[in-house]
Amino acid sequence: MNPETNPDTISDTLSFDAARERWLDNITRLAPEYVPLSEALGRVLAADARSDIDVSPFDNSAMDGFALRAADIADASADAPVELAVATTIAAGDCMEGTLVPGECARIMTGAPVPAGADTVVKIEDTATPEATQRARFIKPSPPAMNIRLRGEEVKAGECVLIRGDLLGPAAIGLLAATGHATVPVYQQPTVGVISTGEELIDVEQVPTAGKIRNSNSYSLAAQVRAAGAKVRQYANIHDTLEDTIAAFRQATAECDLVISSGGVSVGDFDYVVEAVRSMGDLQFASVKMRPGKPQTTGLIGRTPFFGLPGNPASAYIGFELFVRPAIRKMAGHTALRRPVQKAVLDHDLNKRAGFRYFMRGRLRLANDPTEYVRALREGTDYRVAVTENQSSALLTSLHHANCLLVLPEDETLVSAGTVIDCMRLDIDENVVV
Ligand code: AMP
Ligand code: MG
Repeated sequence: MNPETNPDTISDTLSFDAARERWLDNITRLAPEYVPLSEALGRVLAADARSDIDVSPFDNSAMDGFALRAADIADASADAPVELAVATTIAAGDCMEGTLVPGECARIMTGAPVPAGADTVVKIEDTATPEATQRARFIKPSPPAMNIRLRGEEVKAGECVLIRGDLLGPAAIGLLAATGHATVPVYQQPTVGVISTGEELIDVEQVPTAGKIRNSNSYSLAAQVRAAGAKVRQYANIHDTLEDTIAAFRQATAECDLVISSGGVSVGDFDYVVEAVRSMGDLQFASVKMRPGKPQTTGLIGRTPFFGLPGNPASAYIGFELFVRPAIRKMAGHTALRRPVQKAVLDHDLNKRAGFRYFMRGRLRLANDPTEYVRALREGTDYRVAVTENQSSALLTSLHHANCLLVLPEDETLVSAGTVIDCMRLDIDENVVV
């Protein structure tokens, strides 16, 4: 057996970085699909988007005011106002026929087309006669092009307004609307199959009898899948037998773009995930030098990537966050695959085992009292961090209260209070700059 894929000994366990890289190497971006513009929020654009028209399509007024010839009021002053005849009123959506002649102006509203002949707009507040509909009086000059938004200022017809790979936020959606894209090409969102293993599992509406527990992973993992921007397909719990495990993996990998399971990956008598993957496909690794969640199992079953998460709820959650979420994002076309890292001063000592990277649940806060603040600033950060409650891998409360994972390097055995450490933000997306 390839020593790297033998889960039984620590020396065969991959480092976290090697495991992550190896897993993500399996993952390829999905094909594009067209979706209605109103459903494109949060998706990644799969082709450059060009504009079909100039935006704005015409020169238009940036203010409510009067359109006129700058030359007509070049000498206007409070002492010597200039009066112009009001030829018409142009509302947004209207269009003035003909051309303004010298000595004329037009009342104009924001967004209305600037009439031919006019080369400046004086805003209403700058005129002596804001209500004028017959003759308007001007008491100062207005330079040419003032308060006029030019045709094609945003983008010209045929030019790219967004490029392939752009994340479609609300502003991008607005640009696509302005440039005529009723449907948009985006990378498909993966469908992720979620399988729970364990004879002890019952569903949420049941009350556990002796030896049983509610299946919380199925719900937390499905929620994580959705939060990562993918679609979920939940499968019924499977029994702890090799046959059932294989049958479930076969069905799910045929129906989904990515399949994850929880539980059954340790070295217990009824843990069949590793054996199932090994017998069905290409087992890549089954053990990572990390805490929590050393038994992380990956492989390809057919052409479908498979990730076997540990059963303990916090380990499953953290394994998902570190391995599955970036894979989902990669499939959906995102290039930012890492959560932002915030440096923070640690409140208290932390002990750990050498050789493992630790991901501890913690809460970042802005250093607020004066001593904290001075200390934190001296270390070059505004943040402090402490772990949240009990870090047992069976417990979820400490994750619920966490906004980050404290990342403790492999080499250390003691990370002392006052050390500046990396904290992986769980509360903000991968593309956010901190
Ligand atoms: P395993 O990896 O199957 O040995 O499971 C490790 C621990 O996680 C055991 O205490 C299981 O009962 C628990 N566990 C496994 N699957 C789930 C699940 N879906 N929801 C909640 N706890 C689970
Ligand atoms: Mg189990």
